[in-house]
Amino acid sequence: MFLVASNREILKGILTGNDRQEVTVDGDRTVGGRDHQPPVTTTAAATTKMAIPRLSLLPNNEHNSDNYEDLELEFSSSVLRSLERYLPPEILTANREEKAKFMSDILHKYISREECAKAIRFKNYREWIMSNYQPRFRELYKLDPESLLLPCFRKAVRENTEESFRRIMFEPFPGVYVFKMFQPDFFQKLLVEVENMRKWLHEAKLMIRKPNNKSKYGVVLDDFGMDIMLKPLVEDFIFPICKVFFPQVCGTMFDTQHGFVIENCEDRDAELGFHVENSDITLNVCLSKQSEGGEILFTGTRCNKHLKAGPKPEEIFEYCHEPGQAILHLGCHSHGAKAAITSCSRANMILWCINSLFREMQTYDNEFRDWCGQCAREKKEKKSQSLASKRKVKKRKKDMILLKFIRCFV
Ligand SMILES: [Zn+2]
Repeated sequence: MFLVASNREILKGILTGNDRQEVTVDGDRTVGGRDHQPPVTTTAAATTKMAIPRLSLLPNNEHNSDNYEDLELEFSSSVLRSLERYLPPEILTANREEKAKFMSDILHKYISREECAKAIRFKNYREWIMSNYQPRFRELYKLDPESLLLPCFRKAVRENTEESFRRIMFEPFPGVYVFKMFQPDFFQKLLVEVENMRKWLHEAKLMIRKPNNKSKYGVVLDDFGMDIMLKPLVEDFIFPICKVFFPQVCGTMFDTQHGFVIENCEDRDAELGFHVENSDITLNVCLSKQSEGGEILFTGTRCNKHLKAGPKPEEIFEYCHEPGQAILHLGCHSHGAKAAITSCSRANMILWCINSLFREMQTYDNEFRDWCGQCAREKKEKKSQSLASKRKVKKRKKDMILLKFIRCFV
């Protein structure tokens, strides 16, 4: 599900020249010293030292990449086609098989064979579901804004201003936005569809892929092809809101989304411990809830560096999620669902929106992050310490002047 992020890292690693190296070429034209090295053509006899052809820094946009669909490869044809435009001229003229081998060898430096095998298993799992599953409500698999979304929500997004968004939402706590966006019949239809998916998987004797490592009882909507509806929903309707309220996180657009439904009741994931999510922005829609209990407790935003910093009293906020409501918050806004009391059950649709560029920037940026509660606190403390020491220096200077002045009269 995070192949886009991985590809970006791969490409970044490649383009920054991480594969630049000199290797020893053996007499049989295989490369010695390391596994998975790109092939090097040489007429030299044994042990000639030469450089591996490097990828170009800029893509060759004029080049028409080959199609690799019919070859049995570990990497998808679309990834190879994208990478092909960066191939050096001497490799670009090689045949398809040679180019595929050259690119696969490079990619293997960034993705292990186990990860490749896992991705292929997941691809096959998804393709099998998509070609065999019969949806109960086909209208849930494409985005028709008029039948799916509330008119007031569509109007607010169309106007696309902070004022228009604030008109349909409230912010019960800083950084937590609550609003209604779906037509009333969406919730029941989605719940029936999810039950249908679960039943079908059970009858087909297929395992249900867990949506994340916290939830045991959930269904990944993307696996059934619902990402075709969720992607434009995120891009056309959720992103504009995020751009206004979380501009530092969402950049120019999210590059991945992960949609799933989770259920909580006394015997199904009764309590979810405090956690931050593998998302940059999270949309949490309450589909149904019976009886009381199971509130969400927010405990502060945390960057990667401060994940273990405990919550301060002013960061704790409890919210009672109601059916029909959507909550939008940062993925790093730590929270947990309180234990469901007897006979209480609820179902939520969760959408994780991911911006891999924002994640990369976090790796290189060591400054305080305004969106992290602990960073903001440390920045404030540093500022007040600096002010206190400046005051101290100033006072010392004043005392010296006063002392000099007194000495003049002694
Ligand atoms: Zn921080």
